[in-house]
Amino acid sequence: MSNGTKNIAILGSTGSVGRNALKVIAALGKGFRAAALSAHSNYKLLAEQAKQYQPDVICISDESNYEALRVELKDFGGKILCGGAGLVEIAESGGIDIVLTSIVGVAGLAPVLAAAKSGKRLAIANKEPLVVAGRLLTETAKANGAEILPVDSEHSAIFQCMQAGCVDEVQRIILTASGGPFRGYSAQQIRDVTLEQALAHPTWNMGPKITVDSATMMNKSLEVIEARWLFGLPIEKIEVLIHPESIVHSLVEYVDGSVIAQMGTPDMCLPIQYALTYPQRVKGIANHLKLDELGSLNFEKPDVETFRALKLAFEVAETGGTACAVFNAANEAAVGLFLDGKINFVNIVEAIEHCLEKHEVIRDASLEELLDTDLWAREEVNQCLNPNTVKK
Ligand code: MG
Repeated sequence: MSNGTKNIAILGSTGSVGRNALKVIAALGKGFRAAALSAHSNYKLLAEQAKQYQPDVICISDESNYEALRVELKDFGGKILCGGAGLVEIAESGGIDIVLTSIVGVAGLAPVLAAAKSGKRLAIANKEPLVVAGRLLTETAKANGAEILPVDSEHSAIFQCMQAGCVDEVQRIILTASGGPFRGYSAQQIRDVTLEQALAHPTWNMGPKITVDSATMMNKSLEVIEARWLFGLPIEKIEVLIHPESIVHSLVEYVDGSVIAQMGTPDMCLPIQYALTYPQRVKGIANHLKLDELGSLNFEKPDVETFRALKLAFEVAETGGTACAVFNAANEAAVGLFLDGKINFVNIVEAIEHCLEKHEVIRDASLEELLDTDLWAREEVNQCLNPNTVKK
């Protein structure tokens, strides 16, 4: 916009990525500004952020918290919006240059598509837009000159490694995975794990849903699909490699045999910053890596027999259409039940398998068909996972 300042909208500013993004933007200082913020229901923190960062506009997507937010912000000079329509209004606003999205669930789909339609830079931190609507989103972005930049650390790594060559020269991309807290467990051992064990991630500090996804390796599974769309590569060019230290964030192997890796401390501030400043690199707040203190880095093949979600991901990515929406929604619903203590850890992947078996895939699905499928899979999981019959 005016005077070269990049006005950034953070959709999902009260979550872990959103809070880090605010820190990154504050540290970048001149040239970058948090111009719009949104939260789903945490109106108290959103109000605090509004007072501190003085954005032009904020939005609370859960409308039942709108009045409470207004009361908190009696003296706020900016605009206060609510609901999904408020998110879309921000995403397509002419006053915004970069839309950073970190909205949980499919609620983020409409604003992401709106930002793509208005030709903005999209910094995507949540997986759903690319997993559920990968084809629709990438085609919309292309048709309208919008840039999609990854914030997910692995995809940011691949994007950075891609600067070393062109897409046609890529032999394969290798997504690294920490392996989660159950790395090395047998299929039998994993049957007895508890919620507390699943929530104790060895290297990354994240929200509960993504931490459980890391334990099932569903997180990596979603990332495989995300990568397929983000980089426009056939699924056979995507691989997963276990790397417990989470220092090598991912790698790209080129046709000449050269492998380019991106490394850094496990800190989301770096990928967030790169998505905002690309193609430039500037001094930031992420901790710097000291390889000599680490000593060694380890790599191993993933165990797709124990972590079945990973095997499913490649099948689902190949199938495409609404299959990816089922994969994502069934997982989200099942993880919700697991976090509520209603089902066991292994029931999560069983629920996804059940839904995929039952679903009839629609290819080249519209947004409406994708959202309908999402809803169907959630209902199916809640019906088929009756705690009284499933819990052992
Ligand atoms: Mg990731």
